[in-house]
Amino acid sequence: MPGPSSTSPPLVPHWIGGVATPGAGTRRHEVYDPRTGEVARLVALAAPADVDATVAAASAAAAHWRETSLAERTRILFRFREIVAARADELAAIVSAEHGKVPDDARGEVARGLEIVEFACGIAQVVKGEFSPAASTAVDVHSLRQPLGVVAVISPFNFPAMVPCWFFPIAIACGNAVVLKPSEQDPSAANWFGAAWQEAGLPDGVFQVVHGDKIAVDRLLEHPDVAAVSFVGSTPIARHVYETASRHGKRVQALGGAKNHMVVLPDADLDHAADAAVNAGFGSAGERCMAVSALVAVGGIAGDLVERIARRMKDVEVGAGACDMGPLVSRAHRDRVAAYLDAGVADGAVLLVDGRQHPVDGPPTGFWLGPSLLDHVTPAMSVYTDEIFGPVLSVLRVDGFDAALALVNASPYGNGAAIFTNDGGAARRFEQEVDAGMVGINVPIPVPVAQYSFGGWKQSLFGDTHAHGVEGVRFFTRLKVVTSRWLDPSRGGLDLGFPEND
Ligand code: NAD
Repeated sequence: MPGPSSTSPPLVPHWIGGVATPGAGTRRHEVYDPRTGEVARLVALAAPADVDATVAAASAAAAHWRETSLAERTRILFRFREIVAARADELAAIVSAEHGKVPDDARGEVARGLEIVEFACGIAQVVKGEFSPAASTAVDVHSLRQPLGVVAVISPFNFPAMVPCWFFPIAIACGNAVVLKPSEQDPSAANWFGAAWQEAGLPDGVFQVVHGDKIAVDRLLEHPDVAAVSFVGSTPIARHVYETASRHGKRVQALGGAKNHMVVLPDADLDHAADAAVNAGFGSAGERCMAVSALVAVGGIAGDLVERIARRMKDVEVGAGACDMGPLVSRAHRDRVAAYLDAGVADGAVLLVDGRQHPVDGPPTGFWLGPSLLDHVTPAMSVYTDEIFGPVLSVLRVDGFDAALALVNASPYGNGAAIFTNDGGAARRFEQEVDAGMVGINVPIPVPVAQYSFGGWKQSLFGDTHAHGVEGVRFFTRLKVVTSRWLDPSRGGLDLGFPEND
């Protein structure tokens, strides 16, 4: 690891207590511009002492923040919403520069994140408790939801703005203090949010950013003053986070990896399906947890569908500017994804389109890989069993609907699943019987809108609460039920029996 020097690239500091600080840790991580392959920044990697300082500041801030009225919290949220909306292009440019996704895609990511902020602006409506007057004679019962205290959000590289927004607006709206540990691969968006919250009037310490790797994450998972952990990332790390944080008594939601299927029935509109497969397979260079990576062609349409997809792939513009697709996030990831093309061929798949040959409008040093199409993939091949997380679409051919459904349901992942058909009965059966948390009907990337919740099944989510929407509010609050009886001179006296309702 390089150490800081006078010729070092600029440092991305932590954001602790409303101040940018390099912290006590001396380790640094290189942050690339994936379009040029150059190191653009270094990010500070937290030592355990930095995490402790952040959590201490969060605990102090949380004690006051939970007492702040809903009206005042909402006003701050509205101001934050206005700042993000007004400067969305600035945030998108940061995302694009470090992640590599094209500007349009980065703007879309910011827009989806903003929708969660807007949902959180309505917190007063959704955090309400219930009230039952005279639940028993002269006894009233009401419920309330209270904040947890300090909560940690640990996010992946692929949506450095949107994924943190799945959690922190709602956590803050509910009265918690948030410690965000973003991906070390594209850390700057998190700091941008820190400054925006400060400008919106959020008290220092309610939203903080601590950068780092496993050392920072593990300290958060074990810290006695962290009440809950929201994690998004790959399945092995999600499992580690879930098991470790649960063992330390925390509430956890850990969203993991995915292998999303798109089933195309013979009666589907094949042009619509081909457009959708290309958009959902290669948008953001396939680095989306809801990307379609397995196309399941049912019946005799496979050859025709594959031909339409391959034709469209030629038109996908790959490059550094306003193209369709940017580079992958790192050289190591690009090389790992490219290696799957050889593995697929070695296993007997047919490489119909090789992304390594695709023209690129960008510096040759960038982490480029064009879209690839593998046909005749079978469930035993590593290109099918592994989450590749790149611009590689695998086509599996099956005889009928039942075989397609069985294939999807045999996957260890259950994030998103889509069906393309004009048959309402088949679509309804798919919706009812598919083992996935988010289902699309003629929609390839069925990311739920903000007022619903995002989350997969099986190894795509550890824990029992999905992200944002009402489930998000439940995750970031604890339920309390109050039973009250006010002094009534007509009732009293000793009665040691178990209270019965009368
Ligand atoms: P990752 O698992 O490598 O990293 C995620 C976070 O965990 C980062 O903040 C990272 O610093 C931290 N981390 C990495 N290794 C760790 C370790 N050994 N111990 C503790 N913490 C560690 O994931 P990534 O490569 O940044 O993101 C891509 C993955 O995220 C894909 O698998 C993708 O499917 C998944 N993802 C899932 C969803 C979802 O909603 N299910 C959404 C987005 C991304």
